[in-house]
This record gives sequence, C-alpha cells and structure tokens, in this order.
Amino acid sequence: MVTHITEEIPRSVWYGWGDPARAKQLGAGALDYLRNTLKLSGVEPVNPPVDFSAVRVGDSHLGDEALAELRAISGAEHVSTEAAERILHSGGKSTPDLMRLRAGDALAAPDAVVFPGRAAEVREILALCVRRGIAVVAFGGGTSVVGGVDPVRGRFAGVITLDMRRMDKLLHLDPVSRTATLEAGMRGPAIEAALQAHGFTLGHFPQSHQEATLGGYVATRSAGQASTGYGRPEDLVKSVRLETPVGPVELGSSAPGSAAGPKLLDVVVGSEGTLGVITSATLKISPMPKHKSYGAWSFPSFEAGTQAMRRLEQDGVRGDMPHVCRLSDTDETAATFKLGGWKTGLLARYLRLRGQRTPALSLFVWEGDAGETRARKRRSARIMRRSGGVPLGPMPATAWEHGRFSAPYLRDELLTRGVYVETLETAATWSELDKTYAAVRSAILDAIEEGGGAGYVQTHISHVYPDGASLYYTFLGGLERDGLAQNARIKDAASRAIVAAGATITHHHAVGSEHSPYLGAEIGELGIKVLRGIKDTLDPRGIMNPGKLIPAATEEQA
Ligand SMILES: Cc1cc2nc3c(=O)[nH]c(=O)nc-3n(C[C@H](O)[C@H](O)[C@H](O)COP(=O)(O)OP(=O)(O)OC[C@H]3O[C@@H](n4cnc5c(N)ncnc54)[C@H](O)[C@@H]3O)c2cc1C
Repeated sequence: MVTHITEEIPRSVWYGWGDPARAKQLGAGALDYLRNTLKLSGVEPVNPPVDFSAVRVGDSHLGDEALAELRAISGAEHVSTEAAERILHSGGKSTPDLMRLRAGDALAAPDAVVFPGRAAEVREILALCVRRGIAVVAFGGGTSVVGGVDPVRGRFAGVITLDMRRMDKLLHLDPVSRTATLEAGMRGPAIEAALQAHGFTLGHFPQSHQEATLGGYVATRSAGQASTGYGRPEDLVKSVRLETPVGPVELGSSAPGSAAGPKLLDVVVGSEGTLGVITSATLKISPMPKHKSYGAWSFPSFEAGTQAMRRLEQDGVRGDMPHVCRLSDTDETAATFKLGGWKTGLLARYLRLRGQRTPALSLFVWEGDAGETRARKRRSARIMRRSGGVPLGPMPATAWEHGRFSAPYLRDELLTRGVYVETLETAATWSELDKTYAAVRSAILDAIEEGGGAGYVQTHISHVYPDGASLYYTFLGGLERDGLAQNARIKDAASRAIVAAGATITHHHAVGSEHSPYLGAEIGELGIKVLRGIKDTLDPRGIMNPGKLIPAATEEQA
C-alpha cells in the first residue's frame, strides 16, 4: 500500500515557513548560481529577521466587555490578547507579509485571537461581533499568499481572528458512497491520517499541505500537486456548513447530482472568509492507491512540451492522465539539472545527441493498481515520443516527490541573503498558453530590471485540463531598499500582463487583497455587483474579512 504524507509538524517559524527543524541552507553551488544569474556581488546574510522580542505590535482595541463576552463563549483559555499570539496571526505567508514581519512590523495584528471548538461557538461569536461592530477574519493554516488573512480593522471597533485549529475532527466517513465529512480546521496531514486509517485519501496535496486546512482549501479553491488526477477540492466538495452573521446555512447536496436550481454551494467555494466561517464540509474521497508509477521526459523546448501535455490530455485514452503532471520551462529545467545534484555533463551530452540543447523537463506520477498504472504509462509514452520527448526514467519524478515540500523553506534563506523571491500563477487555454507564458514572463523580468538589477524567472505547468493549463512563475532579483515597493511594482506589472492576455488573475492562490483590484477585469462590473449582493445578504454589516476578494465600492457605486 502506498502511503501519503501524514506527519504533523510543530508551529511554524514565526517570520517564514514551516518546521524550524527543517530550515534550509543554500549550498555553495546554489550561492554561485545566484551570484552569476542575478549578477550580485555577494549573497551574504545581510538581512536577517529581527529578534522576536523586537517585533512591534499595538495595544488591543477590544474593551473589557467584548473580551469578557468572547471568554464566556469560548472559555478564557481559548481567547488570547497576548502579543505573541497576535503577532503569529498578523498576516499570512506572502512575501510582503514576511517582509513586514522580518522587519519587526506586526502593527496590523488582530485585537484578539479566538480558538472556537464548535460551530455553535462560531455562531455566538459572529452574533457578538455584529452587535459590537467587530470585524472577523477566519484563519485556517494562515498560509495565504495573497493577503487573505491580513486583519483589517478599518471602520470597525476592532478586528478578531478566528483560528480554526481546534475544529479538527473527522465527523463521518461513508466507505460505500466514498464521502467524508471533516471539520474545517483539520490540516493536510491530519486529514490524510484520518482518511488513510480507513483506506482512503483526499488526494489533495498543495505545497502548503503541512499547514493548510480543509476550510482554507474550500475557501480559496486551491489546487494540489495531484489535482490533475484526483481533482481540486472544488471538484470534490459536496456540501459545506457555513456560519454567517445572519445565521447558519448548509449549502450543497448529498445527492450525486441535482437540478434543484443554481448550485449555491459555489457561492461559498472561493468565498475567502468574506461571507461566513466554514465549520465543516463533506467531500468525495478515493481509495488509497496500491501502486505509483513514475516517469520523466525531456522535450526540445517548452512549447514542444506544452504540445505533448495537450495531446496527452486531449488525444490520450480517457483515464490515462497521470495524477501528477508537470512541465518546467527551459530556465527551470536548467536550474533543476544544475542544483539537483545531477550528472549534468553526461545528461547534457545525452540530450544534445538527441537534438535537445535547451531541454524542458516533464514529470509524471500515475497512481492505481500496478499493472494498470504501467499500462497507462506505456500508452502515454507513445504520445510523448511523438512530440519529441526523450525518456529519462523514473528518477527525476521520484526525486521531485521526495523534495516536493521543501522548496518554500528556501524563501526565508534567500530573503536573509538579500535576494527578492516571489511566485505567482495563472491559467490560460491551450491556444493562448504560449503567448501568455511569454508575455507574463517578460513583464516580470522587465519590472525586476526596472529596479536596476538583473532578474531571473522560471516557470512550470502543474495542472493540466482538456482546454488549457496553469502557469506558475518563480522569480528572483536583488532585494531593493524598499522591498515592499519592489514587490508591489513587480506584482502589478505581472497582474496587468495577465489581464491583458485574457488569462485568469489566479489559478489557485485566490484573490485576497493582492488580486482584488484586478478581479473586475475578469468578472466585470456586474459580476462584482452580484458578489456584493450576496455579501449584503449574508453579511449585511460587512464584518467578514474586510478588504478581501470584493473590491471596495467607488463613491458612485456606493
Ligand atoms: C509555501 C506555500 C505553498 C503553497 N502551495 C499551494 C498550492 O500548491 N496550491 C494552492 O492552491 N495553494 C497553495 N498555497 C496557498 C495556500 O496554502 C492555499 O490558499 C490554502 O488553501 C490556504 O489554506 P489555509 O488553511 O492556510 O487558509 P488561510 O491562509 O488560513 O486562509 C485563506 C483564506 O481562506 C479563508 N478561510 C480559511 N479558513 C476558513 C474557514 N474555515 N471558513 C471561511 N474562510 C476560511 C481565510 O479567511 C482567507 O481568506 C501555498 C502557500 C504557501 C505559503
């Protein structure tokens, strides 16, 4: 039996990512690569985070009465106004969030952090917040990279964060229908441990798996590394229980299909905490696979690789698609070959002999029964070869799987060494993919270089659909004096290029506050009005996660 990752990790590094014991150092080869690629004179540790005791956090705005009421609902031990707890909930894990924290700025911290244990508590807390005019941020794992959990007090008397970690139980599992009802605060490893004990998996493995929660998955329409095979949580979710400021609602249906009016469930999926708090959800689950088959092919160019992905998806036998399906552009491939400890000389010669000077690497994992996964792999290999693919054996894919959760640790080390690093993503149809890829890439590069230094951008596809694919960019440059302004400039240029290309402003990171200004270009003024109408119904006082998803109304619209 194959096992998926289930181990729990301790609370994460306060200024960055993950388990402090797994923090990463860059090796000499990687430092050289950075120095040469970014033309930096040095990559010394020039920008360490301040000491935790030096982080600035303001006084809590909540009065004694409001705090006493919160404590009466959840118990005093589950309501915290401690500076440390408020700092840990002062933002998510976007690069600007980390830049602020590393510089000792947690001034936007919530006034209190509440850890509810039951849906009924959430209901009472929301009623209290409506009465007292307090804003509420639902907080799952806090892994948002788009400002989704940043507390905004705005016009309200205060802002509290509801950390859902205590709501972490498997409530029901139906092995016959293959569904499970899970509480919203369950983190990735806990979800897998609970389901695997019954022989099932959710199959959802975002890179933030260790920390992100079920509620966050549903609220952000996230996508995992194996979503090509298992589907995204938005495809898996059947129903959701939501506590709103006007009362509880259950959206969705236990029926396998329904024509009972519009699918209201979709109003909550992707609502990013702006309508209410998801307390539990019922999702489809899959039996644990008995076997995994791994494969890797190299293509003569990124474009040749994208063509192979499209053919695999469109011309292949239905059901042959790998669960994991990734394609790196030539820059990402060069970095992988260089930094992955490969015998690069030998490999380059092998690929050159087959006409590949600037190769693009693809990785695949098929899950299922042994004989069946091998047969799917064999059939897919024919399509790869027809698109110019050269087989590289299973090793690149097993190596990727081994290290797939470790890359985010590098961001902390890079920022410490004065290197700016950020990621963003979009998706486009096959007919527009190559153009979108190139336009966004050059917008990012130009915006980095506008600051005076050299830039580096690498891209991959990690989610493939019959009509198109995602594009995920990782980019680096020298960290400028005002890193926040640098980041805003680069993200804005990339977002404008995405809008101009007619692609989506986000394939899976969600909208949050960062993408909110660009949402109107995608869904139109009337679309924004529909969102505002739904919000006015479920959250008439606007206390739920202000400043996220829905752009603020201009004076004429208000
Ligand atoms: C290193 C790293 C890697 C990542 N990799 C991926 C990836 O591979 N795929 C991907 O899709 N995303 C990825 N992300 C983004 C992020 O992990 C996802 O958006 C994830 O789904 C967020 O889950 P969370 O529990 O941490 O939510 P949070 O960050 O806590 O919240 C995100 C949003 O959801 C809302 N929310 C959270 N819980 C609830 C609830 N119970 N009810 C209502 N609203 C709620 C919040 O208010 C907020 O608006 C990554 C982030 C990081 C830092």
